[in-house]
Amino acid sequence: MDAAIRRSGKQRRAEILAARRRRQNRQSALAAQENRRLAPLSSAPVDASLLLPINSDGAPEFVSRGYYLDQVFRCIDCAAEGIWYAERQKWWYEVAGGHPCSIARRCAACRAKERQRKALARRQSGVAANSASSAPAARQHGHDPAISGGD
Ligand SMILES: [Zn+2]
Repeated sequence: MDAAIRRSGKQRRAEILAARRRRQNRQSALAAQENRRLAPLSSAPVDASLLLPINSDGAPEFVSRGYYLDQVFRCIDCAAEGIWYAERQKWWYEVAGGHPCSIARRCAACRAKERQRKALARRQSGVAANSASSAPAARQHGHDPAISGGD
């Protein structure tokens, strides 16, 4: 009896922990995806006709190899190791129009941060340009005689 109660208490704690872990996992799902270290290497075929033109000085390895391979890289922002998946490479070079000599440099988390930073900068510069015309007229500011008098 006693043991059963203790065990169910333990189970509940474990469930709470598991739920908390699930929440955390969801938040960093992207980062986790990028870090499936134990996943076997995957590959994707190269469709060279979709690539941007390459300078004569050396085509990247995947072109002569004929397929993309998962690539381990180190994030230039946080130095975390990440995997650039073959499928993502295919998308980057053949769909998004990434230069064939460009490679992954940021992990998913830092990429998201960078995207946010850029979007914010864009929005702010847009706001600054727009608000010049619609700024509220002369705000009443500073000196309030009722307060600063006092003797
Ligand atoms: Zn990073």
